[in-house]
Amino acid sequence: MGKTNKNFALSVIKRIYAEANADQSAEKLNQIIKIITEETKASLAEIYIKADDVTLECVAIGREDKIPPAVRVGYGVIGKAGANNRTSFAKAGNIFKIASPLRRWNKPVGVLALTFPKPHDYDETEVEALETVCLFLSEIVASEEMDQYIKKVIKSRGIVSKDHLKGVVINAGYGLGNIVVHHRRKAVTQVFAKDKDLELKNLEIARQKMNEDLEAKFSQESLQGGDHVEILDAYRMIANDKGWYKRIIGHIDSGMTAEAAVEQAYSEMWARLSGAADAYLKERLHDLRDIADRLRLYLSGEDCNSDTNNYDDIVIIATSMGPADLMDYDYKKIRALIIEECTPTMHVAIVAKALNVPVIAKIEGLFKDVKEGELMAVDGFSGSVYINPPKDIVARISAKLEAKKKELEQIQKLKNLPCKTKDKERINLYLNIGMDFDIEYIKSTNCDGVGLYRTEIPFMSSTEMPDINKQVACYKKLFDAAGNKKVIFRSLDVGSDKLLPYWKNIDEENPAIGWRSIRITLDRRAILRKQMRAFIRAASGKELYVMFPMISDLDEFLEAKETFDFAYEREKKEGYPLPKSVHLGLMIEVPSVVFQLREILKHCDFISVGTNDLYQFFFACDRGNSRLTGRYDVLSAPFLNLMKKIIKEANAANVTCSVCGEMASNPIDAMALIGLGLRNLSVSSAAYGKVKAMIRSMNVKEVEDYINNILSTSRKTVRPQLTAYAFDHAIEIY
Ligand code: PEP
Ligand code: MG
Repeated sequence: MGKTNKNFALSVIKRIYAEANADQSAEKLNQIIKIITEETKASLAEIYIKADDVTLECVAIGREDKIPPAVRVGYGVIGKAGANNRTSFAKAGNIFKIASPLRRWNKPVGVLALTFPKPHDYDETEVEALETVCLFLSEIVASEEMDQYIKKVIKSRGIVSKDHLKGVVINAGYGLGNIVVHHRRKAVTQVFAKDKDLELKNLEIARQKMNEDLEAKFSQESLQGGDHVEILDAYRMIANDKGWYKRIIGHIDSGMTAEAAVEQAYSEMWARLSGAADAYLKERLHDLRDIADRLRLYLSGEDCNSDTNNYDDIVIIATSMGPADLMDYDYKKIRALIIEECTPTMHVAIVAKALNVPVIAKIEGLFKDVKEGELMAVDGFSGSVYINPPKDIVARISAKLEAKKKELEQIQKLKNLPCKTKDKERINLYLNIGMDFDIEYIKSTNCDGVGLYRTEIPFMSSTEMPDINKQVACYKKLFDAAGNKKVIFRSLDVGSDKLLPYWKNIDEENPAIGWRSIRITLDRRAILRKQMRAFIRAASGKELYVMFPMISDLDEFLEAKETFDFAYEREKKEGYPLPKSVHLGLMIEVPSVVFQLREILKHCDFISVGTNDLYQFFFACDRGNSRLTGRYDVLSAPFLNLMKKIIKEANAANVTCSVCGEMASNPIDAMALIGLGLRNLSVSSAAYGKVKAMIRSMNVKEVEDYINNILSTSRKTVRPQLTAYAFDHAIEIY
């Protein structure tokens, strides 16, 4: 190893330009890390990238070696550089380390670390050189191709570290509790029976006990209403299936013990059904496994109630589980379920959803890493599971749980109070619905209805394009949950960042402004027609509201309307019952329509502003590009003037105008919109309580005066002024 060149920045950068020219990102990263190692004369150079708020994953290492374990942000020299956003140093024995952050928008996104095996004093020149290299490297790792590659690497690791594991989210939510390991299956202890009659008698007793137990568990109040009821009914039917018992009895008659006969009957069913392609039959097989295990437990003289007396909060760990298994635990204590084999359509997942339990699946090797009683924290949004989590993780998850609790309390507190401002202006507050779990909020919030139903979500979570009957069932569910409240269905809005797993990905230069949304469905008219027919059929006897996304001009909207009319006529001709009334609208997301709005308003029944897309097209600022986060603000003169124009023209034409983009879900932004004349907002379920509290504490006339005065400001954002205004006027913003 040669003498250290402390001013290595220029030579590193020059060589990266000249030599790191591989086409593949993986190879390019290898070339870069080798150059850094050679030029700095370090014994090891490593690049870490933040996988999430708390983890740094090594994505490049300058020697043929195993990838080191992930580093926790804030711990050790690498973790400290990633947390404090400063170059950090460490010395352990004869090992010297220096680590410097990679930044994006001045926030740490990764770390470059160098190790020296000999005494090494770090002088300013060297620190500056390292920081210059980091600046350069930050740009490289932020390039689209490299960013994609790194994300893939991080995802492929799956297991982040021994105490921090990652799985697939089946049901989102946070949880904190003591681990309870779910064991059920036992080996058959005796195969041949001594007394056939006794075995038959035992089977009958076990079966009776099992049925009584299932009856009691499935009739719990917490489980009434919803998809899972059907599942539990089917389960009960299988548990009593005559054919299945006949087989068991047949095996006992031929000399087996009851426990062996149950296992034998199950094996036969498994051999018959496991090859079936039908997902439904496979699910039934899971249920049957579960029933066989339960029956055998009763045969052995035990019962199926799992003892959780030692804990108040539990996280259940299982390899696989049936829906009834979950009910063996005191459901009030279940904070999360971590299950190796599980998919969203598995019955245990559906029942867990009904109980509001977060579920994470597909964590390999989980069983070897956990012990009964250990603390586990679950972030069921990112799919992270922490065993014996450190204090900061416990604090983070507890804070999330607390916020959720507050959100629910807030909703509860305001539920029966009118959604009116202090000066008695009625504001209609709707919910945006995407995921199934949002649906229950329609009732719990007592909202005015659904202002945006993102129909692409069920399409995205399906393994194939849902046929018309599946779509009807899905839309009906929403109508049922909404009762007489208004529901606005949005036509399929796919493309760009919303991809269907069963559609070939189209490689486009600019997907956000490419072939997406209404452009796809107008070109693939059969899909749109089918969806319109499903809306019409689901809305029989009800008021139907349909809106079309990403409309760029009047003509496009008229074409979409025509498609609806065609579908309507077909439904009528075929004799399907029709909706009580039909209202067709469009989303204002593309700036061009704002300049044709007067004309458009003559042809539509309502408009809804999708500020997420409108913002990105208005400022020419990709909404998904984290490098641009915070660069422009919707609370700025240009955007607020745009919103004012839309709201004013719609109000003048007497056409209902609402905002369903994220802007409506942010209390300060929502306050500004109301000040501009908006009276309809559609918000996410998590924001509902906050926005309602803001509405009830504001005075429209006063905000109106204030906001109109700041519309000509030359500042980049008026957020600080509006926040100060809210504070001074005791408007509830939190
Ligand atoms: C929007 O663009 O504001 C909107 C509500 O649609 P999405 O976020 O689904 O694109
Ligand atoms: Mg949109």
